[in-house]
Amino acid sequence: MQFLLEVVDILTNYVRKTFDRSTKVLDFHHPHQLLEGMEGFNLELCDQPESLEQILVDCRDTLKYGVRTGHPRFFNQLSSGLDIIGLAGEWLTSTANTNMFTYEIAPVFVLMEQLTLKKMREIIGWPNGEGDGIFSPGGAISNMYSVMVARYKHYPEVKIKGMAAAPRLVLFTSEHSHYSIKKASAVLGFGTENLILLKTDESDSCACYLVKWFCCVSAVQGFMPVFVNATAGSTVYGAFDPINEIADICEKYNIWLHVDGAWGGGLLMSRKHRHKLNGVERANSVTWNPHKMMGVPLQCSAILVREKGLLQGCNSMCAGYLFQPDKQYDVTYDTGDKAIQCGRHVDIFKFWLMWKSKGTIGFEKHIDRCLELSEYLYHKIKNREGYEMPQHTNVCFWYIPPSLRLLPDGEEKRQRLHKVAPKIKAMMMECGTTMVGYQPQGDKVNFFRMVVSNPAVTRSDIDFLIDEIERLGQDL
Ligand SMILES: *Cc1c(COP(=O)(O)O)cnc(C)c1O
Repeated sequence: MQFLLEVVDILTNYVRKTFDRSTKVLDFHHPHQLLEGMEGFNLELCDQPESLEQILVDCRDTLKYGVRTGHPRFFNQLSSGLDIIGLAGEWLTSTANTNMFTYEIAPVFVLMEQLTLKKMREIIGWPNGEGDGIFSPGGAISNMYSVMVARYKHYPEVKIKGMAAAPRLVLFTSEHSHYSIKKASAVLGFGTENLILLKTDESDSCACYLVKWFCCVSAVQGFMPVFVNATAGSTVYGAFDPINEIADICEKYNIWLHVDGAWGGGLLMSRKHRHKLNGVERANSVTWNPHKMMGVPLQCSAILVREKGLLQGCNSMCAGYLFQPDKQYDVTYDTGDKAIQCGRHVDIFKFWLMWKSKGTIGFEKHIDRCLELSEYLYHKIKNREGYEMPQHTNVCFWYIPPSLRLLPDGEEKRQRLHKVAPKIKAMMMECGTTMVGYQPQGDKVNFFRMVVSNPAVTRSDIDFLIDEIERLGQDL
């Protein structure tokens, strides 16, 4: 008990420091430094037990050399923030240490999951929240579920006979969609060549040239389109595919429509912003990650399916040691056979607890605030000297150091600009004061990519980030 109290002390200290802007975001070390061992902290496993004092040191140092993703100056990737209620939920979940596969061993959590999924389906706009769903280990897996269920709906015999029982199936997605769709097509045996990447239009708004593609493809005999993915909030640019336009085509040709709202699904909670997902209620399935924009601690991702029974039909194997049909309770609550996993982590409790504590209204405020901060950043750099932006939903931008501003556009400028974001980021990580993501995209040179999903962020944190970029980048 004494040990546990001391661990709690370490954790609460960490939480306190996470919100303290004078604390660094990270204390960077190279892999070889950590592997060689820091003072009093060694990663090697040994034959003899360590003392509890040493175990406490190990706990403290593990946090010390990690990254404070909840720090208000951490802007690196899609999941950030440290929600205190969510954190408490995660602690309780680990303490309960149970498994989602049956009502038998997770009665309360199973009901919470059912109820929350229904609520999410109501928010999507499916009548009475009818349908199905499950929490999965992340958006990539949720997207894979959608491809699996689409195939099962149209070619159920594949479950038993394999892909040879189906014609040559093709899938569609936009070139800016998440790579997990491509991964699903490889893993599930479609083959990445049978995933057709749709070009987006010049404005980068992801308007889909689906009709054109559909005509081309169906002209080739033996091609059978089964699945279209529309992205609601693309990972890099934050662009939204026009769901209604895509749904018209899918309905006409009887193709499964999936909406990947892993990133943008959170906008459904906001009356002001949910119009970006107009038409989502026409989707056959939706991926929605509360662990991204809604700030729920990792991991928390849902796959929602409009038609009931498909998940079960597609994945059930009826293992006798878990899913006995003659239990004393209503065994339709044993949701485990819908999953591709056997054991499944309890991801629902922290989300349910956050929803309880904030109310639906609280999530709406959270989303509105994050988008307002992105807008603030957008306006701050829009007309500022030394910045250019490819688009503005996620804020993507180039910082152009003074030495490059006078260079004419051309290969030399491109090559030098390409190195600017990685160099600034490396310096940032060495000082540990803030952290932001960057990347290349297509033929574009490396640019910074900024999103806010942490409600602890203020305008001054954004000002700080820009000051750091200019401080570190001015002499490049
Ligand atoms: C992040 C993301 C995913 C993958 O989600 P994970 O939870 O990281 O597996 C899928 N689609 C989109 C659009 C995303 O932004």
